[in-house]
Amino acid sequence: MKTIAVIGAGQMGTGIAQTVAANGMDVLLADIDLETAKKGKDRVDQAVAKLVGRGKIEAEGAESLLGRITPVGDYAPMEKADLIIEAATEKEGIKSAIFEKAGKVLGETAIMASNTSSIPITRMANHSPDPERFIGLHFFNPVPVMGLIEVIPGLATAQVTTDRVTRFARGLGKEVVLSQDEPGFVVNRILLPMINEAVFVLGQSTAGIADIDKGCRLGLNHPMGPLELADFVGLDTCLDIINVLHDTTGDTKYRPAPLLVKYVEAGWLGRKTGRGFYDYSGDAPVPTR
Ligand code: NAD
Repeated sequence: MKTIAVIGAGQMGTGIAQTVAANGMDVLLADIDLETAKKGKDRVDQAVAKLVGRGKIEAEGAESLLGRITPVGDYAPMEKADLIIEAATEKEGIKSAIFEKAGKVLGETAIMASNTSSIPITRMANHSPDPERFIGLHFFNPVPVMGLIEVIPGLATAQVTTDRVTRFARGLGKEVVLSQDEPGFVVNRILLPMINEAVFVLGQSTAGIADIDKGCRLGLNHPMGPLELADFVGLDTCLDIINVLHDTTGDTKYRPAPLLVKYVEAGWLGRKTGRGFYDYSGDAPVPTR
């Protein structure tokens, strides 16, 4: 694959763009408009500048990496893309509209993939021009660092599509886990109920934020506690995923913790807004409860 389009230039889309460009492919980066796509590219510039500062990559390599990422204001240039990866907000309506719009320019052999964390691939494939060439490609955050990609074929996905995206994912230096198209796939099906339960524990004042996270770091040997991780993922994204698990299975064990809903309603979405369970305005994160 030579050219990859990424739609959604938030945390995940920019991480995907950086990783793909670091592996020598061209990237077309889109968001709701050109200005937002350019802001996404600016964040990649900053991330790559940090890597240069830390001596992880050479200045020359950084320049050519960044030169391979082009922000775009409409989808027309994506007609030359071998793969279009959607990484927009975790709302089915937003994603379906993107697949319909991008489907108009999808090349004859090109593949369309979604980075959704939880929305059924088989259902979203109906909004693409060819469900045989539609697949889930679930990256982990931060994309340049995390070594895993889940590949999720829908019911109609052709084996050749699964094979091609698996090769693409491995070409990025990542390990692949193949998951059936079940709500939350493998990792989020396990992770999100844990994060949600941690918010119940907090909401019931069983322990404070610092102790819940310390308990899981030291007691479970996790590198991050569940509330730190929730802030990192984005509390809106966590709530969207747990809601999808709840709605698609109808199982009440996935009902969202009321405190998680309140934080999202308050606009306290985690690191990306400067406040979630922790306050990020100072030098080090401070627990807020
Ligand atoms: P984010 O809020 O950082 O970014 C979402 C981006 O989508 C924003 O830039 C927004 O402007 C853009 N967007 C919204 N509507 C759009 C539209 N109509 N067209 C184009 N762009 C649009 O969210 P994120 O964390 O990057 O998550 C994006 C996707 O990746 C979600 O599906 C999420 O579930 C999935 N995901 C997130 C994580 C994580 O840890 N945050 C991990 C794996 C997968």
